[in-house]
Parts: sequence; structure tokens; C-alpha cells
Amino acid sequence: MIRLHNILPALFLLTFSATGHAALRVVTTTQDLAALAETVGGEYVKVQSLTPGTSDPHFAVAKPSMIRKVFRADLLLVIGADMEIGWLPPLLQAARNIRVQPGNPGHLDLSGAVPILGKLSGSVSRALGDVHAKGNPHYWLDPRNGVHMARAIAARLGKLDPEHAAEYERRFRAFEQTLNDKLLVWQATLSHLKGKPVVAYHTSFIYLADAFGFRIVDEVEPKPGIAPSAASLSALLARITADRIGFLIMEPYYERRSARYLNEHTGIHVAVLPQSVGARKGIDSYFDLFDAIVIELLNTEEN
Ligand SMILES: [Zn+2]
Repeated sequence: MIRLHNILPALFLLTFSATGHAALRVVTTTQDLAALAETVGGEYVKVQSLTPGTSDPHFAVAKPSMIRKVFRADLLLVIGADMEIGWLPPLLQAARNIRVQPGNPGHLDLSGAVPILGKLSGSVSRALGDVHAKGNPHYWLDPRNGVHMARAIAARLGKLDPEHAAEYERRFRAFEQTLNDKLLVWQATLSHLKGKPVVAYHTSFIYLADAFGFRIVDEVEPKPGIAPSAASLSALLARITADRIGFLIMEPYYERRSARYLNEHTGIHVAVLPQSVGARKGIDSYFDLFDAIVIELLNTEEN
């Protein structure tokens, strides 16, 4: 009996070789994944992201152009851990592309390649917040996880396109080497933040904190995905003052009113950090992202 999962890779290869040296069509849910796929895939891949780096990846509106991208994709890279739960399943259904359905070789969920922080134990209820039910999905913000992600992407590209597997592996090694070198510089530059208490708007930065040794002690959002109330803000204000918390970090796509209020009443420095490749002009690679974050944290402190 021929099983479907046995013939799928063969079908895929047929599509690939029929188009000669056509590049593998890689579609990603975020620009961070796109940047890593481009770095590892080089000239052998054509990469498109479904969302721009300026948007909150928890939320996206499915558009016909996105369905077309998924329809044509050979490989779909997703953040997973429920990051795209609100918008990707209907898109996958509408695109009707068996290659990139979960469980098939053309579907790679990168949350399986990294240690996920903030996993909740016991039964998960919506009372804990609207998002992050499967642990914290913002893991690309630890540069060390970028290595795990790039390794997994290279391995999958090599599986789908064995002819260039050695090249994907070589490109991954080069990425890993550069990243490890840069990480030492970034960590040294931010070494003064070690052990410092920091407030974040959303629980997105626990991975960044882990990589650089500062502590996220509270969030502006009372629960992930829940906007602050007057009462939660005044409780946070009291804590910032009592614990002498010097930094508030947040993504550019959240409202700034709460941060401004806290800044006016406590003097807390507010750093609006690019959270993704593409969040700002000039952030085109995974390295650019951390260069920009490090500079932003330094500048905030000096102001
Ligand atoms: Zn989140």
C-alpha cells in the first residue's frame, strides 16, 4: 500500500525539478523567519513573509495575497506555540496546499527547535490572558535561539532539496560563527544591565532578558494580550517607584499612552525596541535586529 506521506516528498521533488533550477518557495509567518531562511537558503530559495515586521504577529488579517503565497509554497515556516493561532489555520485551509499542512515535510514549526519559556502547568484558562497559552512564543528575541532556528531551517531545506544540502549546512555554519562572535560583543555592551529590574509592556522580552541577564519583573499588560486598566497602571506605578525600576521596554506597535504616563510620574526610561526584522527601516537581517536593540537600549539610558 502506498501511503500518502511516502509519496509526498517524491511529489515535491517532481515539482522542483520540473522547474529546472527554480528556487524553493519558502513562505514564513514573520520577517524574522524570512531573514533566517534567506541567510541559510541563499540563492536556492525565494522567501516571502506573510506579515511585515511592523505588525504584532499575534494578529493578522488573512488576505487573498497571503492565501496565494501559501498556495504556492514548498515550505512554510511558522513561529508556533500558538503565535499564529488566530490567523494561520483558516489561511492554511483556504490555500489547500497539502505540502505545507502540519505534519508534512513542507511545514516547519520552529517552536520545536528551541527551549520554550513560560510554559503554564495545569489547565490553561483564558483568565491567564488571551495569548501565550502554550508558553511564550517570542523566542526569536534570544539570539542563541536564532542558532537553533537556523539549524532547523537548514536541515529542512536540505531534506527538501538534497542536492544543495551541503550548501545549506555551510551557510548555517557561517551564520552560527558570526552570530556567536556578535553575541559576545552585544553581551559585553549591555553587561551593565545584568541583574537590573525591567518592566516590559507585553511578555515578549523574557528571552531577550535571558540572553542579556536583566530581569523582567512586571508587565504593563496585566495579562498577556489584555490592555492595562487605570487600576493596574497605578499599581505598576507604585511598584516602579518602590523597586526603583529604571527601564520600560516595549514594541513599537503598542499604544504609548501608558508608557508616557509611567514616565511622567516615575521618570522611568522608555525604550521602544524593534522586536522583529523589518520593524524599522534598515533592520534587514537577524544581526541588524540585535544591533538595533542594543543601540536602542544604550541610547535610552543616556537620555
Ligand atoms: Zn505575545
